[in-house]
Amino acid sequence: MNEHNTAETKSVTIMLPAGRLPLDLLRTVDDLAERFRLKLYLSTLQNLRVMGIPVEKFDEVKAELAGVGATFKGPGRFPLPRICVGKADCKLGLVDTAALSSHIMERFGSRSNVKPKIKIALAGCPASCSGALLTDIGVLATRAGYDIYAGGKGGPQPRVGRRIVRQADEAKVLEVIEKLVDFHDARTGSKQRMGKLLDDPEFPFAEAV
Ligand code: SF4
Repeated sequence: MNEHNTAETKSVTIMLPAGRLPLDLLRTVDDLAERFRLKLYLSTLQNLRVMGIPVEKFDEVKAELAGVGATFKGPGRFPLPRICVGKADCKLGLVDTAALSSHIMERFGSRSNVKPKIKIALAGCPASCSGALLTDIGVLATRAGYDIYAGGKGGPQPRVGRRIVRQADEAKVLEVIEKLVDFHDARTGSKQRMGKLLDDPEFPFAEAV
């Protein structure tokens, strides 16, 4: 969803790694929301959109949020993975999805000029509560290792991703993500979903059956 700004108000989206909302950030958001009558929206990508910020208070609000460690969504940033709650808080969980998300962001978070429209989702078991199969890059834990899917999407014409790797370890997951993002970058003008690239003759992965 595109952000809707008006002549009087603006919005900003706070990135929430692994979908976690730190308490000091929560307290600051609550305080700002009370003071300026802001609206809050938890996005489908597990980020927090702060809406209705008076234009003249925008810089002040952002500075207060940044003061408690908030980082903001912006063009060209590497996409934060959407994750399920994972092993620590789900009895079906096979892996620590928050840790995997953190390792992905440690490796790729500093990349800039990432072309728009690719998303990443991580699931801690085949139930895939985070929609890994319906995401451009989906990583799903199984008892035998990670399966990786590419090209899934939702929207008006949903598509299940193609499984391209089976039984991977974490090092392989990082390697595959890098190849997919590099390929997307090389083949994309301004923006593109990964699914459009699956039938490119040079797509770097065959279907893993
Ligand atoms: S995908 Fe599996 S581990 Fe993750 S929340 Fe759903 S059931 Fe639990």
